[in-house]
Amino acid sequence: MKRLILAAVLLTVFPIGMRAQAPLKSGQIAAGTKWATPYYVNDSGKEGPTILITGGVHGNEPAGALAADQIRHWPLESGRLVVIPRANKRALSVRHRRTPEAPRELGDLNRSFPKTGEPDKAKTELAQALWDFIKQVKPDWVLDLHEGFAIHRQNPESVGSTILCTADEETAPVFENALEAVNASIEDSTRHFLLKKNSPTVNGGLVRASIERLGAKGAVLETTYNGIPFAVRIRQHRVMVNRILQDLKVTSAGPDDLVFRSERDSSIWVAIYHDRGVGGNGPRAMRTEFSAMPGIESRTIGSAEVRNGVLKQFDAVIFPGGSGSKQAAGLGGKGREQVRKFVSEGGGFVGICAGCYLACENFSWSLKILDAKTRSSKWRRGRAELELGFENGGEDLFGLDSEIATVIYQNGPVMERAGSSDIPDFETLARFKTEVAKNETPKGLQVGTPAILRGQFGKGRVVGISPHPEQTEGLRHLVPELVKWTVNR
Ligand SMILES: [Zn+2]
Repeated sequence: MKRLILAAVLLTVFPIGMRAQAPLKSGQIAAGTKWATPYYVNDSGKEGPTILITGGVHGNEPAGALAADQIRHWPLESGRLVVIPRANKRALSVRHRRTPEAPRELGDLNRSFPKTGEPDKAKTELAQALWDFIKQVKPDWVLDLHEGFAIHRQNPESVGSTILCTADEETAPVFENALEAVNASIEDSTRHFLLKKNSPTVNGGLVRASIERLGAKGAVLETTYNGIPFAVRIRQHRVMVNRILQDLKVTSAGPDDLVFRSERDSSIWVAIYHDRGVGGNGPRAMRTEFSAMPGIESRTIGSAEVRNGVLKQFDAVIFPGGSGSKQAAGLGGKGREQVRKFVSEGGGFVGICAGCYLACENFSWSLKILDAKTRSSKWRRGRAELELGFENGGEDLFGLDSEIATVIYQNGPVMERAGSSDIPDFETLARFKTEVAKNETPKGLQVGTPAILRGQFGKGRVVGISPHPEQTEGLRHLVPELVKWTVNR
């Protein structure tokens, strides 16, 4: 059995597939008000169309917001990209369609822009600030990224999985190509997108106002938020927008180009897996934590990205809570092999709860990158606040002033050494000091077992976390610290 000697681990990560970051200018719309939200201008410096991309107009449609935030980094060949990723930040923060605290008739931001035949005035302070900005931008194209509650093809009550536009000779082929591109990514044809060519889009909406008053071309792109994993929806938006930008010769980046590093940028780029088998509040809590941390950039990815080799753009990957076997099934054999290859070649891996099961050694579907196995097949131990005891410098690594902390636990793996000859031993950073054993799970099995452990697989570093520090007040910094460890920072 190989011993893990940390001092001997010399790991350098040289991600390949990275490209220089395009020059970005940014500022605030509605600066100084409670509506303040950032915009980003990506200018090629070469003649070409100005394209406005907006996300987060409705707060319960987050895929558009995250997609816009990923898209804004694409290097440009011509023209200019102006991106407002989180148009209605306050609605997004509470995940409501409508603006919080707004009166009934003013709550829907996409009914608040100047309507057909009415004066050029928006209905609310936020809509007016956005509209003033858009008029300055003078976009040639406007792409507004939304989500519906159901796939339109299956339920015409919703506009989910559609491209809504009034197509003319010039725009029809562009939107037809976008449709073809997104549908090529969806195996099940009953879930295919539809192009609604004769939709003037909603009155009082951003796209319609831009078309009518600014002479822009435009469309509303709609994914579907029910029943389709988050990363899949984000990618669908990226695929559609990418195809449009490629057709307009604005970018030659691909839809899965996610990581862009400037020469002096030493940021750690971490992928957060958010596809089938991922649930709960963990991913969002981590995105929030990372976005507030200088030096770490996070991007949401799914199984399509993994299978397409996107991990090699990143320094580390996080598999959050949910179901380990479903994550494994979603990745498929090819995806799992990509993750193992990524780690063995020097990438960092952090598995939390389900993601920790995924890393274990003892399941037919697991990645076998951590020399740990579960002690019982009965995993439904329940949710509880458990006590953690830190060791091996864990409390110093995490900057804690106590050797003991309380952490949220929910059905995470109760582990012991697997004793595999292929995987080096792990080191325990924290153990469970208390246990929960609901649903006829074995008692007396959990106390003293490793709760946070770290090891090595090939050239890469692996962290397994059974509980949920990312959802525990006071311990949210543990995952970023462990990500840094996996990339030797
Ligand atoms: Zn919407």
